Amino acid sequence: MVRYLKTIFQHRCPTCKEPLRSQRNNLLCEKICPNGHFREEVYPHLGVRIVYENKD
Ligand SMILES: [Zn+2]
Repeated sequence: MVRYLKTIFQHRCPTCKEPLRSQRNNLLCEKICPNGHFREEVYPHLGVRIVYENKD
């Protein structure tokens, strides 16, 4: 299970390779590129993961 999670969750921006900033609350775990390339939202209770990528 741990290995599975590691493959799912990004820890670095795929564009600039900066470490992602993460923040979480009861509903949502968010990871955001400090340069705005990438954003990941995970809603654990819904089993939903949404990824926004900006490659420009
Ligand atoms: Zn980036």
